[in-house]
Amino acid sequence: KVRVRYAPSPTGHLHIGGARTALFNYLFAKHYNGDFIFRLEDTDIERNIEGGEASQLENLKWLGIIPDESPLNPNPKYAPYRQMERLDIYKKYIDILLEKGYAYKCFCTPEELDAEHERQVAAGIAPKYNRKCCDLTPEEVKAKEEAGLPYTIRVKVPAGKTYEFDDMIRGHVSFESEDIGDWVLIKANGIPTYNFAVVIDDHCMDITHVFRGEEHLSNTPKQLMIYEMLGWSAPTYGHMTLIVNEDRKKLSKRDESIMQFVSQYKEEGYLPDAMFNFMALLGWSPEGEQEIFNHDDLIKEFSEKRLSKSPSMFDKEKLKWVNNRYIKERSLEEVVDLCLPFLSDAYDLSNHSEQWVKDLVAVYHDQLSYGKEIVELVSLFFEDELQIDEEAQEFMKDESIPNTLAVFKSKLEELSDADFTKDNIQACIKATQKEAKAKGKMLYMPIRIATTGIMHGPDLASSIMLLGKEKVLSRL
Ligand code: GLU
Repeated sequence: KVRVRYAPSPTGHLHIGGARTALFNYLFAKHYNGDFIFRLEDTDIERNIEGGEASQLENLKWLGIIPDESPLNPNPKYAPYRQMERLDIYKKYIDILLEKGYAYKCFCTPEELDAEHERQVAAGIAPKYNRKCCDLTPEEVKAKEEAGLPYTIRVKVPAGKTYEFDDMIRGHVSFESEDIGDWVLIKANGIPTYNFAVVIDDHCMDITHVFRGEEHLSNTPKQLMIYEMLGWSAPTYGHMTLIVNEDRKKLSKRDESIMQFVSQYKEEGYLPDAMFNFMALLGWSPEGEQEIFNHDDLIKEFSEKRLSKSPSMFDKEKLKWVNNRYIKERSLEEVVDLCLPFLSDAYDLSNHSEQWVKDLVAVYHDQLSYGKEIVELVSLFFEDELQIDEEAQEFMKDESIPNTLAVFKSKLEELSDADFTKDNIQACIKATQKEAKAKGKMLYMPIRIATTGIMHGPDLASSIMLLGKEKVLSRL
């Protein structure tokens, strides 16, 4: 049975890159009727943040990615799901590696290691551990331990070996053991490193496939050597390409051109199913031209064979387009619910009825890209002063206009407050056309400018209705 995992470190909130990793693992698992596991790689204890795990899980859930197994939903066969709760498991395997002579204790101090590193760099050699502690005798090790010296445990990297594997995305990949120094399995604080713990966990949790970021490609030979030493077979790997910004630069947490965290999209009023759809296209493409797929269709269509080898660009405009497509599909009531928090945050709605808000949102339903965008779109309905720009003022100099506006005004005055509806306003525009003998641009534009101040905007009759009789008449 296919079993994959998303294994974040709780050092931050759910990042776009992490969400995409989770998503591809999830789609792959569900496509093959497998399990998607959430495991917490929390061994970097200084960098862990409060609430990191909950935040990761909540954001995944918002996206519609619910793990089959996680710390909150453990399968007793594989639990626990947090690495810091699995230290005794790592201990068991480190003892085997020590016993078999595949690993050794290293008493070098950080200062010694730094000095050696500098020496190697200065000499123009690619730095790697000089194996000073590799051949300590059992007696020497014992004496140092009894003296209470802190130590790490390093793996003794085999000489002259090639580590190779077939990556689901990159094809055949190989690394030479010569290029890998004896790396640390267990840190001086007794906690395993990522590269060691990940092997033990992926094996013990029966993980069959791993999709992860390309930054882990060079970690793979390190992990493969542990599999080999323990006599296990490794999962099948797929290293995904980078996500880049519009300048083709790797998304970095400092990049302000793109919102980096899933929660930010939620806060701006993006829809989770649109994000799910958009992120699936970040490094994967379906066979045909279609780009809008719901959750279940993506699971059905997903194929690891169509994962891209080249970096995928995070195209904000495309995300807006996808999100708009999903907003259009929602009912007006749902879109009102989406917009309302942003509207009441930005404007005083106390003088407006629920119906008015609904009519307002309806005008923008088809064009809205994300919830918060409503605030700028509707600003003209909340301004008291009419602002008319130069181009519009120029237009208004035509001598036919005062009469047109006067006629239109007299028509509106005939409407009672209750009759001030879109259809009736439209009828007034029509009547003005006849009576003032103004048509086309010379009819609509003066009315639009005089009432809204702008030359281009949403449906004119709806706009006039939303502005309200009193305001419109005084402007006219
Ligand atoms: N904890 C690792 C990370 O956050 C997981 C890497 C892996 O999937 O092996 O990148």
